[in-house]
Amino acid sequence: MATNSKIEWTEHTWNPWIGCTKVSVGCDHCCAEAWCKRWGHDFDIVTRTNPATWRQPLAKDRQGNYKWKPGDTVFVNTLSDFWHPSSDPWRDEAYGLMRQRPDLTWILCTKRPERPSYHSAPRRTIFLASAENQETLDARAPLLISFTACGGVRGLSIEPMLGPIIIPDKILEWIDWVIVGGESGPHAVPMNPDWVRAVRDQCRDPGQGRAPRPFFFKQWGAWAPMSRDEALSRGTGCCAFGSDGKKPFGSVHMGRVGKKAAGRLLDGRTHDDFPIITS
Ligand code: SF4
Repeated sequence: MATNSKIEWTEHTWNPWIGCTKVSVGCDHCCAEAWCKRWGHDFDIVTRTNPATWRQPLAKDRQGNYKWKPGDTVFVNTLSDFWHPSSDPWRDEAYGLMRQRPDLTWILCTKRPERPSYHSAPRRTIFLASAENQETLDARAPLLISFTACGGVRGLSIEPMLGPIIIPDKILEWIDWVIVGGESGPHAVPMNPDWVRAVRDQCRDPGQGRAPRPFFFKQWGAWAPMSRDEALSRGTGCCAFGSDGKKPFGSVHMGRVGKKAAGRLLDGRTHDDFPIITS
């Protein structure tokens, strides 16, 4: 799907502000922080971006057509958190701009779903609670239920997946989308394939006769599953998970190959489900 963005499940990214503060272990190797360091931004100070960036969703080509085409998907705040407290003064303005493009699908992802100022979002909005392990999922996922107020779609972004996760049954009742991805970057930790399979299988069969939930496998991240011999032969690093998901002994081997080489095949195929947007 990606066109102007490298993220697999969106066409565009839009950053009305940049910078954040860490809230949990999933923030330890934050890509937004790495980006800010590379480009000389102070990550710890949340900064409003320039007017040209704000106007990106409304930009038109010479023929007068929107550059971001109707139906395109826009992931908001890849370099911050939409509900960071420091962005409170700007959020209504951001919503106002989003409402001028109700033909786009907007994705709002947060590790702060306890700050639900969502009523002004356009109807074609996907709200994602981001969680990295069972503890954060149990705390954040239930807060998404109140996001129905604006008619949007609710999903879980399990990224970076840092431990085994079981989606609670009462969440499976209403969740509309589940994304899973491993960590990338120089300090990335490996993700056990069995953790991903368990979530995929829950989405395939949520139990009690429910319909399958859309499942999107975004990436392995820096580490990929491979044979023991291949993993051991790599000078760049390898690890092994036991059947209980714990390191260092076991039969599941991972090697550090980099995000691009690791790819996004799970058991020989991609998983690219997207939720149905009805509004
Ligand atoms: S909430 Fe997101 S953007 Fe903010 S520090 Fe954590 S991972 Fe980075």
